[in-house]
Amino acid sequence: MATVTRHDPIGVPVDRTEVLIAGASFAGLAAARALGPRALLVDRAPLGAGVTSACGAPVAIVERMGAGASILQRQNHLVIDVEGRAVSWPLPEPFCTFDYAAFCRLAYEGSGAGFRQASVRAVDDGRVFTSVGVIETDFVIDATGPRSTLTEPTLRGRRLAFGIETEIPAPAAEGLFFYFLPEVRDGYAWAFPCGPVTRFGVLSYLGSTKLLPALRRYMARFNLSPGAIHGGFLATGLAPRATGHVFVVGDAAGQCLPLTGEGIRTAVLAGETCGRLLRGVLDGRWSREEAAARYRAAVKEERRRYRALLWGNVATLAMPRPLLRLVTRALAQPAALSWFLRHYLSIFTPAPAERLAPARTGSSQA
Ligand SMILES: Cc1cc2nc3c(=O)[nH]c(=O)nc-3n(C[C@H](O)[C@H](O)[C@H](O)COP(=O)(O)OP(=O)(O)OC[C@H]3O[C@@H](n4cnc5c(N)ncnc54)[C@H](O)[C@@H]3O)c2cc1C
Repeated sequence: MATVTRHDPIGVPVDRTEVLIAGASFAGLAAARALGPRALLVDRAPLGAGVTSACGAPVAIVERMGAGASILQRQNHLVIDVEGRAVSWPLPEPFCTFDYAAFCRLAYEGSGAGFRQASVRAVDDGRVFTSVGVIETDFVIDATGPRSTLTEPTLRGRRLAFGIETEIPAPAAEGLFFYFLPEVRDGYAWAFPCGPVTRFGVLSYLGSTKLLPALRRYMARFNLSPGAIHGGFLATGLAPRATGHVFVVGDAAGQCLPLTGEGIRTAVLAGETCGRLLRGVLDGRWSREEAAARYRAAVKEERRRYRALLWGNVATLAMPRPLLRLVTRALAQPAALSWFLRHYLSIFTPAPAERLAPARTGSSQA
């Protein structure tokens, strides 16, 4: 069922959709692609506006979203530089940098879902209050990102890092560069080449928002200075949230990875899983409770790896830089790197359809 509008007894329009997805970024768009015309995306910004991210992600994830044409540059290795000494980590699968606006447009075009620009203010028992009126719905997917307060004012266990970046013309380079430097003691800096431009950014693991001086000092190393700045919070903490009719995905559920700050892949994979589970409910293949339990279980399965990354994050903060240099060097050994990246890159590996089906057999099949 596509979104329909009816009028209440005094003539006020009331929209209705089967699934309302709050937030039309990575997690929301992935869920929308799984749900098709049964979903209505609602975002406070126009589609594809308001980028916060450096938009570095596995090529396979971008292509999975139907957005291969948004890719600006493919990347086959990471460069980790600890205070002037760099090691290269070849990647077992290609990453890329991509254009956010094009990504959102392409992902949306292939979804079949509806889109409305509005701010979602509250959710209450099948009714969603937005800046342009009330929308009735069977399910809500909260994909409103790291500052989500839609379903709970504070999410226990959620941790907020903060990052800013700028995109400016710079000499061409290959690889995704991460720098551990004195200007950001509690985080790292990056340079992500995107063809003729490069995205330079800095991140504070501890959520410090006063990062502009650090960005300036970092870029001065390349005789460059920042242009327009964007950025925001990154939420980690992995809360397996699915209660009643509301499912929470992406940064809103703390699914961004600790240590690396990579959150696009996890948002896309969790959003897709969530969308497919709700589609199963709408098709009568399993119940709402079963879908919620499956979603919580899928998220919980990742807890061990999230925790390992969190400890890695704590260790990176505590370690003297010479020791960090030794660790990044040791990890550059092929066997160690392959072990680390195998575990790292399989987080939220898409659940095959049969894993999404409920364990017990009902009258209908998964
Ligand atoms: C500076 C920076 C660089 C980063 N670089 C990378 C990177 O290179 N690679 C990577 O993997 N990750 C990166 N991340 C992390 C990544 O951007 C996030 O993990 C990812 O964006 C989470 O996706 P999401 O869909 O959950 O939320 P978001 O991308 O934050 O999207 C939330 C959406 O909800 C909308 N919204 C919010 N509130 C409301 C509301 N009340 N009503 C309606 N709409 C609302 C917003 O407008 C937005 O469109 C970076 C983060 C930052 C801050």
